[in-house]
Amino acid sequence: MSFLRRLFGSLFRSGGARSSGDPNAVYIHVRCRFCKEAIRVRLNRTSDLSPDDDGGGFVVRKSIVGQKCFRRIEVDLAFDRNYRLVSEDVTGGTMITAEEWQAEHAPAS
Ligand SMILES: [Zn+2]
Repeated sequence: MSFLRRLFGSLFRSGGARSSGDPNAVYIHVRCRFCKEAIRVRLNRTSDLSPDDDGGGFVVRKSIVGQKCFRRIEVDLAFDRNYRLVSEDVTGGTMITAEEWQAEHAPAS
């Protein structure tokens, strides 16, 4: 369990305890082109995702700034109605998988 997950868990606890965590979250993972930092971004299904013009999915546009440098990563994403990523346009970085992100953030043991 990551620090972030615990943090969000405590932030939203007052909204009603759900042990399975975070049903409104969609996570994306990007790597900064400049400093190579792997960054995880939590999107909220209701506040971050907008219905697309066809009504069949969702679109997100977001600026991401990591912790290692000040460069902005602009992501322009489309999801289907099951919140699966179907298209991506990233400026200043690249999309990576959750596994790649995890590999760099797993606690050393
Ligand atoms: Zn960076």
